[in-house]
Amino acid sequence: MKRFEHLNTQLVKAVIPNPGKRDLLPQLSAKAQVALMCRMCFREGWNDHIAGHITMRQDDGSILTNPWELAWDELTAGDIVTISAQGEVLDSDWNVTPAIGLHLQLHALRPDINVVMHNHPEWSGKWACMGRVPGIYDQSSAYVAGELPLFDEYEGTFDDDDRTLAAAKALGDAKWALLLNHGSLVVGKHLRQAHLRVCTLEWRSRRAYEVELAGGGKLLPDASIPDVSRADDNGFPFLWEAMARREIRNDPDVLSE
Ligand SMILES: [Zn+2]
Repeated sequence: MKRFEHLNTQLVKAVIPNPGKRDLLPQLSAKAQVALMCRMCFREGWNDHIAGHITMRQDDGSILTNPWELAWDELTAGDIVTISAQGEVLDSDWNVTPAIGLHLQLHALRPDINVVMHNHPEWSGKWACMGRVPGIYDQSSAYVAGELPLFDEYEGTFDDDDRTLAAAKALGDAKWALLLNHGSLVVGKHLRQAHLRVCTLEWRSRRAYEVELAGGGKLLPDASIPDVSRADDNGFPFLWEAMARREIRNDPDVLSE
């Protein structure tokens, strides 16, 4: 649609995340990136106390994840745990939640994704409890296109192998999902993509909730969404870096190894 032509131009020109004027971020280890991701997503509303897991598969097949004992807004790079593809802790005294099973199944089933995230978020969690999918009412709700499945096979916590395998298969090739009476799931090929999906899911969920509460509004025309959602491929330009800088400013210790 014409109203978004200016945005498309910006996106095409700005896919390289460094303008060459200043360093957007210091060098970050993989563990530092996962720790920052936890802090950033906590701020987006993925903040149910110590619940929730981020897993990031590395090139050697091992997986980085957050420890069970710590909240997403307190952990540092040094707290991030390396586990094997089967879930064995390789380098930490921290524990990993037994609910990591769904993540391991998804990593095994889907070589196209390297990041899996789950929590009981503030805004998308409301829609998961209502058993409804939020509409898209504005541009910032449309950075990620495609179906938002509502997964309604929830039968308890995800710590049983058969149940997690069934859930992983049912999710198919979805990029995200609402889990009925439970929470949300987002996957991505890398942290940048998963981060934009989390931001978009929460923004869209909050906007739709508020619009409906205020009496309703007009949904964004379907024809506008494919152009706006080009950002989904690599994350919105500069966004991951800006939100990471915010967390480093807020607490430089997040980078402590
Ligand atoms: Zn959960």
